[in-house]
Amino acid sequence: MSEPTRPGNLIARYRSAGHSYVDVLDQAATTVQLATWACHGCKNQGPRMDHASAQKEASNHSSRCRAMHLG
Ligand SMILES: [Zn+2]
Repeated sequence: MSEPTRPGNLIARYRSAGHSYVDVLDQAATTVQLATWACHGCKNQGPRMDHASAQKEASNHSSRCRAMHLG
């Protein structure tokens, strides 16, 4: 299984329990730095939130998501 291309706004990438990837992605905003997280395994993603919250949610999700990355 090869790692998916890293997008330019990638802040962090977690390995999931199912050996997939959960990305934390920067979301450009005017006044506040916002980010989202997105899982390559189950395709779930979070709403826009601050960077620290996105990192935390991505870490939590990656520790319990068992969906495989299908390419
Ligand atoms: Zn997932």
